[in-house]
Amino acid sequence: MRCRSGGNAVRVVGESVRTKKRTEITIETERVIVIRRRRLPVHAWCQPCGGQVVMVTVDEAARAACVSARTVYRWVEDEKLHFIETAEGGLLICQASIPPSGPVVKGD
Ligand SMILES: [Zn+2]
Repeated sequence: MRCRSGGNAVRVVGESVRTKKRTEITIETERVIVIRRRRLPVHAWCQPCGGQVVMVTVDEAARAACVSARTVYRWVEDEKLHFIETAEGGLLICQASIPPSGPVVKGD
């Protein structure tokens, strides 16, 4: 008996099973702090001036007049300055009513 081999070759191609498992956990923490400074001049109606004027904050008025914010509040109380009250309860000072450099009491 003859057994002829050859001819059909059976090739088993091994299957490569690739299992790739990737777990990605991304924790993103984002914090946005917006500090909004009103840089644009606020225009509002000033009754004593009888027109639209530039309104500034108490701090800005204090800086413009070279006085403390406390002095500005006192001027407001003494009605030396034109002012309006904002809806939030803040004060806005009429720029036109602020003395250019204020009564200079600095120095000794
Ligand atoms: Zn005014």
